[in-house]
Amino acid sequence: MRRISIFGATGSIGQSTLDLIRRDKESYDIVALTGGGNIDQLAKDAIEFGADVAVTAYENRLSDLRAALAGSGVHAAAGPHALLEAADREADWIMSAIVGAAGLAPGLHALRHGTTLALANKESLVTAGPLLLGSAQSHGARILPVDSEHSAVFQGLVGEDKSEVERVIITASGGPFRDWSLEQLEGATLEQASQHPSWDMGQRITIDSASMFNKALELIETKEYFGFTPDQIEVLVHPGSYVHALVGFKDGALMAHLGAPDMRHAIGYALHWPERRDLPVARLDLAKVGTLRFEAPDQVRFPALRLAQEVMATGGLSGAVFNAAKEAALDLFIANKIGFLDMARHVERVLTEMSDSVSLAGRSMTLDMVLEADKEARDRVFAGHSN
Ligand code: NAD
Ligand code: MG
Repeated sequence: MRRISIFGATGSIGQSTLDLIRRDKESYDIVALTGGGNIDQLAKDAIEFGADVAVTAYENRLSDLRAALAGSGVHAAAGPHALLEAADREADWIMSAIVGAAGLAPGLHALRHGTTLALANKESLVTAGPLLLGSAQSHGARILPVDSEHSAVFQGLVGEDKSEVERVIITASGGPFRDWSLEQLEGATLEQASQHPSWDMGQRITIDSASMFNKALELIETKEYFGFTPDQIEVLVHPGSYVHALVGFKDGALMAHLGAPDMRHAIGYALHWPERRDLPVARLDLAKVGTLRFEAPDQVRFPALRLAQEVMATGGLSGAVFNAAKEAALDLFIANKIGFLDMARHVERVLTEMSDSVSLAGRSMTLDMVLEADKEARDRVFAGHSN
């Protein structure tokens, strides 16, 4: 029996992971499931799968969780400390699917035990890539990518010599605003930004896809995870989301990874790696798809992509600043306090302000430095907004 924990079990990735596990329940022993405010879902899943512990991130929801789990034998816990304790519980495979930099600390804790960490939480790699990879290396742990593009690149590299890779191309659907003018983007509403043309995901990543901040994070994620140089990594807009990534080799060959836009593919690949197992995902009918369209991305209408280039060039703490400023700006957009394009303006302002005040460059970092930079970036977004 494989022991499994899922951080962010109540979210879109967490639920897709449980869907795969549900199909072969006898093979898995669920150790910990964690969630946020959706106590009913968390308790329901924890009881169904017989988890040892269920953790809500919110301290003030502990009594609700206890009540929902009463008589089930599942232990209830709450708060950031309980999340770390859950990460300390021994497991063979841990899904990191909390949204945002909040996923960093539990992921780091889990790696200390030499586990396999299936990483959907791209923000932790963007924020503190060297810490995560360093911890995995020193504890004999493994990080497997779950982001669809990164799983595709990972699969494209199997059996290959990385030194023979010339470039890596990750695709972007282009989101709901692919054809919009700058003027239209200025007035884009929360409701419009919350509709994704090809993927069904959590609200925050859906809006990040509309602004291309998601692809910006993924560029940095590609650099951090695989160690390619920024000029080897490209974005290609591909409406339809059939091709997830391409790996180009020095002989000019381009190997593409195709699949239906269903995250259970990348999750299932990480769950069964290094084997491939039958997965309940639709098979692509390319005759029906007919045409695969590609376009160059537009860094003027989608400034997040330009900012990601700067962050990749700077390295060090700039990823933590970029991600935290983006999260804070997204909070303001969701609260209807700033416009759609203001998000990138705030992120650019904070990156500039903070590179003037401290050196963001360099690869040596500690968790404290990262958390401080994260906090300062968020504070600066909110302060700049209320000025
Ligand atoms: P979601 O919003 O659907 O779920 C997020 C989960 O994190 C929920 O369980 C929520 O309760 C929990 N959570 C939220 N804030 C928290 C906090 N402060 N502390 C602890 N837990 C908290 O998000 P999602 O779409 O499932 O995405 C999860 C992660 O996977 C993100 O990093 C996202 O970028 C990445 N990802 C998602 C998709 C997708 O298809 N949804 C694809 C690729 C990568
Ligand atoms: Mg992705």
